[in-house]
Amino acid sequence: MTVQALKKASASFDSARRDAAHFIDGAFTSGSTGKFWENRTPLDNSVIGRVPEGGKAEIDAACRAAKAALHGPWGKMTVVERTDILAKVADLIIARLEDFLAAECLDTGKPSSLARHLDIPRGAANFKMFADTVKNVSTETFVMPTPDGAGAINYGLRKPKGVIAVISPWNLPLLLMTWKVGPALACGNTVVVKPSEETPLTATLLGEVMNEAGVPKGVYNVVHGLGPNSAGEFLTQHPLVNGITFTGETRTGEAIMRQAALGIRQVSCELGGKNPALVFADADLDKAIEGVMRSCFANCGQVCLGTERVYVQRPIFDAFVARLKAGAESLKLGRPEDPSTTLGPLVSKEHREKVLSYYKKAAAEGATIVTGGGVPEMPAELADGAWIEPTIWTGLPDTSPIVNEEIFGPCCHIRPFDDEDEAVALANSTPYGLAASVWTENLARAHRVAAQMDVGICWVNSWFLRDLRTAFGGAKQSGIGREGGLHSLEFYTELTNVCVKL
Ligand code: NAD
Repeated sequence: MTVQALKKASASFDSARRDAAHFIDGAFTSGSTGKFWENRTPLDNSVIGRVPEGGKAEIDAACRAAKAALHGPWGKMTVVERTDILAKVADLIIARLEDFLAAECLDTGKPSSLARHLDIPRGAANFKMFADTVKNVSTETFVMPTPDGAGAINYGLRKPKGVIAVISPWNLPLLLMTWKVGPALACGNTVVVKPSEETPLTATLLGEVMNEAGVPKGVYNVVHGLGPNSAGEFLTQHPLVNGITFTGETRTGEAIMRQAALGIRQVSCELGGKNPALVFADADLDKAIEGVMRSCFANCGQVCLGTERVYVQRPIFDAFVARLKAGAESLKLGRPEDPSTTLGPLVSKEHREKVLSYYKKAAAEGATIVTGGGVPEMPAELADGAWIEPTIWTGLPDTSPIVNEEIFGPCCHIRPFDDEDEAVALANSTPYGLAASVWTENLARAHRVAAQMDVGICWVNSWFLRDLRTAFGGAKQSGIGREGGLHSLEFYTELTNVCVKL
């Protein structure tokens, strides 16, 4: 990219700098708390704009609007009318791709090549896919005998659950938020979203799209704020909320489940992970290196499904470590709009402190630092950003926090194993159970090992590949419930059985 083209792209990114606002009952507002925080980009720590912190009044107004909309035009629409509008939402996101892209890249710092192909198109697809899903749903019917011989028919009616609280994280802001808003609205619910405080922009922008697409007011609401003792907690405690869907850290999930107990609200939790990759000596090494590279370093390691533990069969251990090191060192840190950039910064300097604390711990525990381990030198204009080096360690004990706790940065620990049983035991050795990937050319081994992984998703010779109609969620402490395709309907609808005596 020429310097001039880069400057032009940067200017278009800069035009996305703006204040965020709540979106309540179809209108943008700063609310009444008078509290704001500065939204800073992790690229260089400069201010993008101000974000209002919602309080109890904003949450109450949003929940009331959502409740009223359930019984307004939205509730009266046929499924075809409703899903046509959602398909329009998807089209409008794509029509405004550059706006969403600039907002997402400013908020997160991620390379625009990634957001252009993943975050924004998947954000749009979440509306289209669930609109298609609900159009083709049927329910069960049973004919039963009765003592008088006339019989009875039982049939299921799927109804919207009501007002859904959506609480979302910062790593894939639009994608993960719409992964919940899409099915919730397709099923006829209304939503109040509390986006991550780190990434308020695309949820706000989606409000404009909702109005443009003709989504009735009150159906989609956004209240910005923090978690505990702020908009997040107030939302989960609001009596008009009928269900809570959450993506974020496992410890936050615990707090939200406690909050959901109030009034017996159903929760769906997609939580943290400490995902293993198992690389057998019979793997296609080129494919394994390419896949493990992506799973460790994509989105600067800030992917719940990412790999932070790599187990490699002993005969290929040294070769694997050398090639992953070369791969990590070939990553190019830089501004999102530069097409040669392959690695952005972490989401914030606070998060960098957390990740760096693990880098320090690894060194203190005597890890071999294969590459990285610190903060890179960046050009002066980016020096105040949340940049960090991609890092690989070997040589730590299995009890190390580095091997057991979710770090959520561009790093992994690689350890050798000798046989399949050992590999399976190591893979299952943490309290998390979100994802695993298995690299082998032996078909029987692939199926055998996959079946023993205590996880929600197990990849064989791939990573981050999934048909959106399949179930998604975590085992053990990585989540509760499954979303995706028809599985989402279990959470976003209430099933009523109607029994008709003939
Ligand atoms: P986080 O748990 O810190 O925050 C997530 C959201 O919860 C934010 O909007 C936050 O404001 C809100 N929140 C915090 N405390 C709350 C409370 N007491 N009540 C209500 N809301 C509250 O997570 P994060 O740091 O934004 O995201 C990273 C985490 O998310 C990682 O652990 C990652 O593994 C996980 N994650 C999981 C998946 C998945 O599908 N399993 C996907 C992406 C991210």
